[in-house]
Amino acid sequence: MFFFDFFVKVCLGSVIVLKIPAKKSLGQNFLKDEEILKRISNTISVTKEDVILEIGPGKGALTKYLLEKNCHYFAYEIDTRMEPILSKLTSNVKYEDFLLSDLVNDFSLLTYQNFYVVANIPYYITTPIIEHLVSSGISISSMILLVQKEVADRFSAKPCTKDYGYFTVFLNYYFEVETQFLVNRTCFDPVPKVDSAVVKFIRKETKKLDEKKFFEFLKCCFSNKRKTLHNNLKQYDWNVIFPVLEKYHYSSMVRAEELPLEVFEHIFFALNL
Ligand code: SAM
Repeated sequence: MFFFDFFVKVCLGSVIVLKIPAKKSLGQNFLKDEEILKRISNTISVTKEDVILEIGPGKGALTKYLLEKNCHYFAYEIDTRMEPILSKLTSNVKYEDFLLSDLVNDFSLLTYQNFYVVANIPYYITTPIIEHLVSSGISISSMILLVQKEVADRFSAKPCTKDYGYFTVFLNYYFEVETQFLVNRTCFDPVPKVDSAVVKFIRKETKKLDEKKFFEFLKCCFSNKRKTLHNNLKQYDWNVIFPVLEKYHYSSMVRAEELPLEVFEHIFFALNL
C-alpha cells in the first residue's frame, strides 16, 4: 500500500521522487503552467527585508519562483509527503496545519518590513485561511491568492450584484480586492472541475472600531438576504439608522446587499454599539 501511496526511491543518499499522488481531501491541484507561475510571482515586488508566506507549497512549483525573490520565505504544508521535494528548495517549511498555526509566535524572532502572502490555496478551506490570516495579529501588506473563479467573483463583488454578501464587506473592510487574471482549469494537475483566478488583496487603513462588534452587527444586517435591512435590524434604533440611510439617498426598504462598506460603518458608529 505504501508503494501505491508514496513512490520515493532513495539512491546513494539522494532522493528521487517518482510520484506523489494528489490527495483530493487536501485540495491538491498542482499548478503546472510555468507562465502562470511566473505571472503570480511577478504580481508583487519585494525587498530583501520583506517576508513571503506561502500556504501549501505542495511540490514547490510556485516556491521556486518565490525563493528567487531573495527575501525571507516561510511556508506551512500539511502533507509531510512533500518534505523530500521541498527540503531540496528550502528548510523554511513547517509541516503542520496552517489553520492551527500561531503566526505571531512563529515570526516573533524575525525582523522584517512588509509581510506578503502568496499562495495557490487549497480551495476547501479558502474562507478559513483568510479569516485565520486576518485574525492572526500579523499586519499583512498584501496577499496574492489563487482561488476558484466563483469565489474570486464573490470576493471582488460590487453592491447590488448576486455575489455581494457578508464576506465581501468583511474583506472590503481590510483590503482593496482586485482580480488580477483568470487561470484555466487545464493549468492544474489533476484538472479540477472549475476555473480559477488570481486575486490581489491590498491592505487598507482600517477605522478605529470594535471589530468583533462590527462584524456581529454586519452578520445581523445580512442575516436574511431576502429581507430588508429594516427587517434584519428590528432590535436596533431606527431613529438613528433612518437619517444615515437618507444621507446616502437610500430608502427605508433597502437591503443589505445594496449598501457599500462605508454605509455599514456609518450606521455602526451612529448606533454607538
Ligand atoms: N502550491 C502548490 C502548487 O501551486 O502546485 C500546491 C497547491 S495545492 C492547491 C494546495 C496545497 O495546500 C497542497 O500542497 C496541500 O497539501 C496543502 N494544504 C492543504 N490543506 C492545508 C492546511 N490546512 N495547511 C497547510 N497546507 C495545506
